[in-house]
Parts: sequence; structure tokens; C-alpha cells
Amino acid sequence: MEVNIAGTLLKLLQGDIVEQEVEAIVNAANTGLWGGSGVDGAIHRAGGPAIAAECRRIREEQGGCPTGRAVITSGGFLKARYVIHTVGPIWHGGRQGEDELLASAYRSSLQLARERGIKSLAFPSISTGAYRFPVERAAGIAMATVKDFLTANPGTFSEVRFVLFSRPVLVAYEQALAKVLASG
Ligand code: ADP
Repeated sequence: MEVNIAGTLLKLLQGDIVEQEVEAIVNAANTGLWGGSGVDGAIHRAGGPAIAAECRRIREEQGGCPTGRAVITSGGFLKARYVIHTVGPIWHGGRQGEDELLASAYRSSLQLARERGIKSLAFPSISTGAYRFPVERAAGIAMATVKDFLTANPGTFSEVRFVLFSRPVLVAYEQALAKVLASG
């Protein structure tokens, strides 16, 4: 699925985030920037040790990355030049600020990309793997947050891509985007 929002192409596709030929890919990281399972592990494996070395420097300088915020490193051996590491919330039932923290993770990543002059970026489905955020709810938050950012910042990006690992997750994002567009 592809739509144009205020001059940015927003694309949803099924695939592997490490393969994407965009300027920056977003990592679903943890607060210690340690590397882990899921997207995080795949990015560190494909990108090589340069990414972990830069993560270590950020950890030493600022203690890592708080939930809802984002930091940037180079992409090492990846096709993408940069990796934006953001930390989504761990799901604890939905009453501990999870929705706002997830929106903040997307917003912080988009803001950081904009500050760096990055024109194209790819997101995974943040928090819906090991962090257990329900996919439909996460998809609604992701689509609304990205749509609002693109509308408020026309022409900032040429393309924002969501790279979903499985067909059911892609369908959840497609349905969420259709809903967000229909609500104006
Ligand atoms: P979190 O810890 O934020 O929940 P995970 O990496 O565990 O992050 O999972 C987030 C989502 O990313 C899940 O839907 C998972 O299936 C998906 N995923 C795992 N590996 C990849 C990959 N290489 N590319 C894209 N998505 C992936």
C-alpha cells in the first residue's frame, strides 16, 4: 500500500528491514543500546561491529537511550547510511503510558531524521515483538503519529516506509492507515 501525504510517499510493505535501500533504518532498540533479539539482533548482525561500537560510545556519554527517545549511529555494512535507534515501551497492560511512549518513539525518530537532513527512512513495527504491545493498537498509533508528523512537516521526507515482517502485521498496518486517512 502506498499513499502520498503532504508530498511524502508513505509505503507499507512486507519484508526485512535490514535489506532496505533508504538513507536510514529505524531500530527497535532497548534503553541500554545493547543489541538484542528481533529487529535489533538482525540489524547488528548485518551492520557489523561499527554499530555496537557507536552504541557503546553513546551509552558511555549519555547512559543509553530513554524509552520514547531516539539516537543515531552509522549503518556500518548496511545499505542504509544511518541507523536511528529508538526505544518503544514494554507493554504492561496499557495503563502505564504505553500509547504516548510509543507515539513518542515514532516522533523522536522522525524529528532526529529531519534534523539530520535524512530524506528517506524505514520503520519496523516497534514494540510489537518481544515488548508485546498489541499489534492493532500499535499500528493505529504508528499510522496516526506518522500522518500527523508528515502533515505538519510537508516535503521533509521523500519517502517513509514501514517494513513489516509478516503478512498479518502488514494487514494490521494497512487497516490502521485506511482508518487514519478516512478520519481526515
Ligand atoms: P520490540 O522489542 O520493540 O518488541 P522486536 O524486534 O522484538 O521489537 O519486534 C518488533 C517487530 O519486528 C515484530 O513484529 C517482529 O516480528 C518484527 N521483526 C523481527 N525481525 C525483523 C526484520 N528483520 N525486519 C523487519 N521486522 C522484523
